[in-house]
Amino acid sequence: MSLSQLARSICESPTLKLNETAALLREKGEPVIHLGGGEPKSKTPIDAIINCSSLLSTGEVKYTPADGIPALKKAIIHYTEEHYGRLVAPENVIVSSGAKQSLMVFLHAVLDPKEEVIFPAPYWVSYPEMVKIAGGVPVAVTARDGGFQPTVDEMAEAVGPYTKAVILNSPNNPSGVVYSDEFVAGVVELCEKRNLYLVMDDTYNRLIFDGRVPSNCYRFTQVHNLDSSKLVVVNCVSKMYAMTGFRIGWAVGNRELIRAMANIQSQETSGPAAPSQWAAVGALNGVQSSIESLRLTLENNRNVMVKRLAAFPGVRVVKPGGTFYCFPDFSAYEKDSQTLSRLLLERVRVVTVPGREFGMEGHLRMSFCGTLKEITEGIERIQWALDPQAPNEIFLGDRKIVRNWR
Ligand code: PMP
Repeated sequence: MSLSQLARSICESPTLKLNETAALLREKGEPVIHLGGGEPKSKTPIDAIINCSSLLSTGEVKYTPADGIPALKKAIIHYTEEHYGRLVAPENVIVSSGAKQSLMVFLHAVLDPKEEVIFPAPYWVSYPEMVKIAGGVPVAVTARDGGFQPTVDEMAEAVGPYTKAVILNSPNNPSGVVYSDEFVAGVVELCEKRNLYLVMDDTYNRLIFDGRVPSNCYRFTQVHNLDSSKLVVVNCVSKMYAMTGFRIGWAVGNRELIRAMANIQSQETSGPAAPSQWAAVGALNGVQSSIESLRLTLENNRNVMVKRLAAFPGVRVVKPGGTFYCFPDFSAYEKDSQTLSRLLLERVRVVTVPGREFGMEGHLRMSFCGTLKEITEGIERIQWALDPQAPNEIFLGDRKIVRNWR
């Protein structure tokens, strides 16, 4: 079979692959604990369900405008005003099939071949592949101090003649780190000085802990007219409303860019699925209490996970300020994160995501969006698998496992 160079260069999403592996093992009756997942357990808000089913019950489910239905744009404009203090026009908004598509059409709209997109490491697994799909070159910036947030100078050092855009994701998948206001302000200033696009991937910015306030990039901009600005803010209903399966995300930016993105989207997929858009209208305009209750659950789960990991000799853990991911350093046990992740799945049926996928070896991404039982039992199993002093046997569900390694 002959495949394009591009197809041959793009890797499968490792997180989606792990979901499949976990589902297959569960189907076979294996007692899998999935700490690799990327979606909250809670249910879709009722207002979303009602809106979606009202549309379905009409039997009139048709194409929508390529950049989203007016009712959803209106709800997004309201969201932007409430959470970012910016009044934007419908022409500044594009609705896509998930934040992923908004990011993808953005990259297609701005990148010429070989132009570079910079983002800090650790980074969301899809950024490098998406940049490559759009013909660009991904450039990851790793903090010299080994931490999860590089300095603005380190970001500036990565800017060259081919740099077109910077992507910041805060709170960050996979580290859970919330970038400091100084850092975000510095990167906004850097991008405005160097005439670069800056995408704020705010997918997780409502899922933030310890009384923090999500960072608002517009506070730091010197370009007050959005239509002259290269700031692009991406959001979605996927995580904050636990609506990953609806596939609705959006971007807010200057209208020329948004028009270009909408043209590409119109040729690629047309508008997002109408029932999903109406569900998103319901979620955004409806009762908002589900976000706070999810946030509180996640904060509690985070506390339990961090406490357990901190008591794990040799494991270094940074307390996540948001998201539902923790990114502990297991290099004292195994430097190769893929080997370690595979070993944990094989020996004790715990799914984790290797840090290498996020541009940082020696770490594992562990999600705390599941139940407290999954978190505590998952970490117990990992500790048993790795600690040579642990007892010789453990029960996984009703199956006894005897250690045959040291
Ligand atoms: N950005 C980040 C940082 C993410 O983690 C994800 C989903 N895992 C997305 C974007 C994509 O979100 P969606 O499901 O809305 O496409």
